[in-house]
Amino acid sequence: MIQGTCETNNPFQMYREWIDSVCNHMEVSEVCRKILVECRREFTVHFPVKMDDGSVEIFHGYRVQHNDTRGPFKGGILFHPAVDLDEVKALATWMTLKAAVVNIPYGGAKGGISCNPKIPSLVELERVTRRYASEISILIVPEKDIPAPDVDTNPQIMAWIMDTYSMNRGYSALGVVTGKPIEIVGSLGRFEATGRGCMITALLAAKHRGIEPDGGTVAIQGFGNVGSVAAKMLAENGCKIIGISDSTGGIYNQNGLDVESLLRYKQETGSVTGFKESEPVSQSELLGLKCDILVPAALENTICADNADIVNASMIVEGANGPITPDADVILNDKGIFVIPDILANAGGVVVSYFEWVQGLQSFFWSEQQVNQELETVMNNAFHEVLELSSREKVPMREAAYMLAAKRIDSALRLRGIYP
Ligand code: NAD
Repeated sequence: MIQGTCETNNPFQMYREWIDSVCNHMEVSEVCRKILVECRREFTVHFPVKMDDGSVEIFHGYRVQHNDTRGPFKGGILFHPAVDLDEVKALATWMTLKAAVVNIPYGGAKGGISCNPKIPSLVELERVTRRYASEISILIVPEKDIPAPDVDTNPQIMAWIMDTYSMNRGYSALGVVTGKPIEIVGSLGRFEATGRGCMITALLAAKHRGIEPDGGTVAIQGFGNVGSVAAKMLAENGCKIIGISDSTGGIYNQNGLDVESLLRYKQETGSVTGFKESEPVSQSELLGLKCDILVPAALENTICADNADIVNASMIVEGANGPITPDADVILNDKGIFVIPDILANAGGVVVSYFEWVQGLQSFFWSEQQVNQELETVMNNAFHEVLELSSREKVPMREAAYMLAAKRIDSALRLRGIYP
């Protein structure tokens, strides 16, 4: 399991507990509850790959399809040494809920390879990717199951998956993955979409909580795709990014870090530590910074019962999937911290993946402005629907988001019925 700083329960078990409590609270059918706490298909593969030194390594891969009641299975692929089946199952279920919260016609899936993402050779990485794509190609199909990038995978890896699938089928299947490079019909705005979605929900929540974004203080854990784009866009909207961390450590400047320069610095040095005009802070000091908005955008389980007490932010925007454990969630709610849950806050990526898939199927491409505008509309609607449910039912935003998703899946299930 890809762990953050906390030791925690099995992530799939954590998800099942959430679903149980939400279904008990809402008028969600027992049938829907029973279906949502299981994954429809769990596929494990063990495959050999020839390495550059002539040796052969066995890699372990997964593709899990959780639920497709509302549309084709959709979800990213992780390459990480600690990926396991339970984690992939938990992430697949989160995808089902995420697509339902933002009301796009997808179900949920996830895939991964347990491997070292820092494989030094690009050629080995390509061989691992293509073999994995071949292994899971009995599941992935443009109308059925559409992968995308996730932790330690990128547009190049999506290009290899698309090409492998296309070679095996004998035609170019543009819609089989999203997050592809622009040159091979990726979507403009996809790379920034998750961080942009975090920025949009953070600003909506700030407005709701009476926090002025101009000069509002922000701390961000993780400076990869999600964290760096969220940092850049929040700074562009007037926020002061006072703290940032990555896997190597954290940095702090009460007057605000220069995010553009930090991006260049990270590219050159591979780390945020040692950046000019900043003081070093530990990972836990970063979580404890007094600020308006904290964005955990690194890994799962970084805020748990052991460290939730130190959090000193007015709001948390979950850029990562599952950064807060359920017991930490209770502590944060008791402290009056407004938490925007992952299935809403980081849904921008899957929304623009959906736009990319639609563009690929139609072979008709949108301008970046159109992509960003449509994303803003979807995120804005979803945020207000969750907020309205949260106020009406007097529950935290996370519970409201789960309720909204479960209700939508239940409605679709009632109409479709149970086959045969
Ligand atoms: P990434 O690999 O690009 O970046 C991860 C960042 O976290 C890196 O800067 C890394 O150094 C940092 N990090 C790792 N361990 C850390 C630690 N212990 N403390 C502080 N920082 C640490 O990954 P990403 O694509 O930005 O994804 C981050 C999270 O967001 C993951 O949970 C992912 O599942 C989730 N997410 C990503 C997307 C997307 O479109 N990329 C969409 C939805 C959710």
